[in-house]
Amino acid sequence: MEHRFTKILATIGPASAAPDTLRLLHDVGVDAFRLNFSHGTHEDHAKSVERIRKVADQSGKPICIVADMQGPKLRVGTFKEGAKELRYGEEVTLKLGKEPSDGDVIMVPHPELFKALSPGHILKFDDGKLQVTVLKNDGKNITAKVDVPGKLSNKKGLNVIGAVLPMSAMTEKDRVDMAFALTQNVDYIALSFVQTAQDVKDARKIIGDKAGIIVKIEKPSAVEELDEILKFTDAVMVARGDLGVELPLERVPIVQRQIIRKARALGKPVIVATHMLESMIDSPTPTRAEASDVATAVYLGTDAVMLSAETAVGRHPATAVAIMDRIIRAAETDPEFWDYFRNRRLRHDTTAEDAISHSVRGIAEIMACKAVFGYTASGSTVQRISRERPPCKIVGLTPHEATANRMALSWGVQPLKTMDPANFDEMLRHIQHLAKDYIGLSKGDQIMISAGIPFGRPGSTDTLKVATVD
Ligand code: PGA
Ligand code: MN
Repeated sequence: MEHRFTKILATIGPASAAPDTLRLLHDVGVDAFRLNFSHGTHEDHAKSVERIRKVADQSGKPICIVADMQGPKLRVGTFKEGAKELRYGEEVTLKLGKEPSDGDVIMVPHPELFKALSPGHILKFDDGKLQVTVLKNDGKNITAKVDVPGKLSNKKGLNVIGAVLPMSAMTEKDRVDMAFALTQNVDYIALSFVQTAQDVKDARKIIGDKAGIIVKIEKPSAVEELDEILKFTDAVMVARGDLGVELPLERVPIVQRQIIRKARALGKPVIVATHMLESMIDSPTPTRAEASDVATAVYLGTDAVMLSAETAVGRHPATAVAIMDRIIRAAETDPEFWDYFRNRRLRHDTTAEDAISHSVRGIAEIMACKAVFGYTASGSTVQRISRERPPCKIVGLTPHEATANRMALSWGVQPLKTMDPANFDEMLRHIQHLAKDYIGLSKGDQIMISAGIPFGRPGSTDTLKVATVD
């Protein structure tokens, strides 16, 4: 099978957590799995981690595991009747407190909201289905006018438009979940509703180098502070579900392009998430618009595309993955896909690593190389090569399991856990063996090898060798 460059991240849920299903999903194309900590118990997640690691061991292909934190998702309280009807134009009161409402007010258990809101701010309920505008806030009661009517039921999500709430991106639940996820050796931790670079720094204090950090961009404040936030994260997700509620819908495609472009320029993996094949939750085929959406993300150079409910609770999880795989492969065989990267110049740091990575793409084009083999300790050199989007397979060689797993999310990279060779000659023999026995290359194929000699020191890449498989 030809190499696929864009990766698939699939969310685990009741529809996919069984060991055989996880194996099947990996077989049909999943490179990375997401554990969604908004749902499920620690026991469920621990079981999934154990099963995924087993699938990876059996297939010999490292798999990346992402633990996605719920974050400070605001929710309304409960109603004794289960719901309240919001009528167009009427005034409603939001009241600070946890007790169930008699139906006259909407109870909200988040004091931060009552500190931050002033007249003109907009509140959306239930993924944006209902909307009110704030008229008055006395610190305990907020009066608001209903703009978009409907039925508001217990514990529905609440999004605030136009205000930065004085909340950390990490809740008490997140801290507990994060500590647990770290005991499971997950590869990335995804942070929800990040608003500032400080949110990322706070998480880094807890996570250290035990896992990578994925920032989910789903708040307008994060879009405004994107450059600063991207400096401190390892990877980024275009979290279009909440983003499309918090921002005007028409901004989502623009922000998606911006995030992909900036993340790639920095050499940090980027994931496009949510609603990609949404109709496949029920249907065995996606809509044409969904197929086009996946292809668009691929053409823009995203590292990965994500499936959420499609694989977590959908009726056709494996078919969704198989179809996503087909859509990606089709786009990647279009010459336009490669033209885009060729025509979009990157800025290079004055490092040997960047000079070598840039040369890799030139040599791959001129010599039609099949693969570049990159020795890496931290994954950094391979990440710089991936950033160049070269038209050849990128084999990420590392002795570290965590580095191998993490690279599974990166564009074009096939990670391979292997011992570092002792010297240059041993490296050449080693690569000849790997090329034929593990990477499926044949006699006569052109390859490249990048390394830092002596081996094993991070940030020491200084050598690029062109070779032929013999
Ligand atoms: P979620 O994040 O599924 O955890 O809400 C993704 C999104 O908002 O798009
Ligand atoms: Mn979200």
